[in-house]
Amino acid sequence: MDKNARICIIGGGPAGLSAGMYLEKKGYDNYTILERNDRVGGKCWSPTYNGRRYEMGAIMGVPSYYAVHDVEEFCGITHDGPKLNRNYKNAAGKVIEPFEPKKNPLKIPRLLKMKKQLKVFGELLETKYKGYDINGHRGVAEGRYDGFAVTPGREPVSGTNPNLKDLCLPFSEFCKKNGVELVQDIWIGPYTSFGYGYFDEIPAAYVLKYLDFQTTMNFVKVNLWTWKEGTQWIWEQLNDHLKNPARLNQTIEKVERRDGKVFVTVNGQVEEYDKIIVTAPLHIPGKRADGQKGMDEYFDVRDDEKELFSKIDYERYDVLAVETRPEDHPEISYYVFDNMVKERLGHLMVYYRRWKDSVDQVITTYSLRKHKNMREVPYEDCKKMVLDDLKTMRNPASNVVNEWSVYYFPHVFSEDYAAGWYDKVEAMQDKYDTFYAGEVMSFGDMDETAEYSRELVERFF
Ligand SMILES: Cc1cc2nc3c(=O)[nH]c(=O)nc-3n(C[C@H](O)[C@H](O)[C@H](O)COP(=O)(O)OP(=O)(O)OC[C@H]3O[C@@H](n4cnc5c(N)ncnc54)[C@H](O)[C@@H]3O)c2cc1C
Repeated sequence: MDKNARICIIGGGPAGLSAGMYLEKKGYDNYTILERNDRVGGKCWSPTYNGRRYEMGAIMGVPSYYAVHDVEEFCGITHDGPKLNRNYKNAAGKVIEPFEPKKNPLKIPRLLKMKKQLKVFGELLETKYKGYDINGHRGVAEGRYDGFAVTPGREPVSGTNPNLKDLCLPFSEFCKKNGVELVQDIWIGPYTSFGYGYFDEIPAAYVLKYLDFQTTMNFVKVNLWTWKEGTQWIWEQLNDHLKNPARLNQTIEKVERRDGKVFVTVNGQVEEYDKIIVTAPLHIPGKRADGQKGMDEYFDVRDDEKELFSKIDYERYDVLAVETRPEDHPEISYYVFDNMVKERLGHLMVYYRRWKDSVDQVITTYSLRKHKNMREVPYEDCKKMVLDDLKTMRNPASNVVNEWSVYYFPHVFSEDYAAGWYDKVEAMQDKYDTFYAGEVMSFGDMDETAEYSRELVERFF
């Protein structure tokens, strides 16, 4: 592609900003990032409270976040945040140690079985499911892998492995098929409580591309990265280091693609580009109170785009930031496994204390209120349940200072995944001078989205 190509990037979150960085690294300087919000970072949102930044969105990373590490290097920054730790409570608010055999004599057989299955699972992923962990979903439904290794050098890898088709199954079925059902007890912590849905509805491919074996073990060992000024700061830093920082408060009214050009009507003016990269939502079923729209609502959307993007659903993941009285402040973050099942939809799954050294900070709470086959819990009902749960946990909130219902983890379900949704969308890359990136193309975390932008630039520019 011509190095002077005029490239429009929609969205100033991790995917859009890192697309800018990787384009720049490859010698493409003529890019423009359009952000609808008055800040960059997207779902990395770190507001300030009592002089410190807390997390309403992304919180942590792991040492295999190679794309985030690229950003850190580009900006000369590092992960310098508070060390995370957590304990567990049951739904009645009692502190428990679910993985400690001495504390759970009756559960010893199950724990031993789980340990065995974990070993088997690790081996299966390395052998039977070789190629399962590379970024993006190209080829999976056809039993292929095609991409870049999850290593600092990201060597290109591709091959055929018919077993990979199993990744189209919901994760619970995938585990059952392989006789390793109990590993779900470990995977559920950093999966469902992090808002990515339930194992009986979400294809194994999403679960395992995010929580590959290595990443899961980092969570188990609490080998995690955080940032003192919050995850938003990573992207603010990147924005400050880009040749063309994002333009904020941009309202895109219309995008038309004709004669090999892309015409973007933004804040009342028409701008002309050669290519466009969309990192904003491709489709949002229903209406959202925050006014966010899918690209299929403001683009001259074509039949194939419309048909494919209509399959996308997303999680209703809610975050509250609450104050407590100092004596009610939790001593640490807590996971509530009992509430990570669909029967407890809308309940408090995890609450997070970020700063160990002070009790005058907010704690943040996390809940999911949608399952594919269940009635959605209304936002206000869910909020009430979470506040009641905090009382049950004996950490009652005295005040809610911030709240957010997030457009979270866009994905497709098993049927569409198995029918080759990803290969169809990948085949449309550049067809209408348009590239599709961001969460739905890989997975809803900072690194997978930034890594997908890296690969997109590598493949097409
Ligand atoms: C509560 C919570 C906890 C999380 N925890 C973690 C974690 O611990 N670790 C981790 O790695 N990830 C975590 N994530 C996920 C991570 O934040 C996201 O996966 C990541 O931010 C996705 O990047 P993105 O650029 O694809 O999308 P986004 O971050 O959503 O950015 C998209 C950007 O596009 C903009 N936009 C949307 N529509 C338009 C439009 N029409 N015109 C212009 N701009 C538009 C948006 O305003 C936004 O800035 C968490 C997210 C949340 C909400």
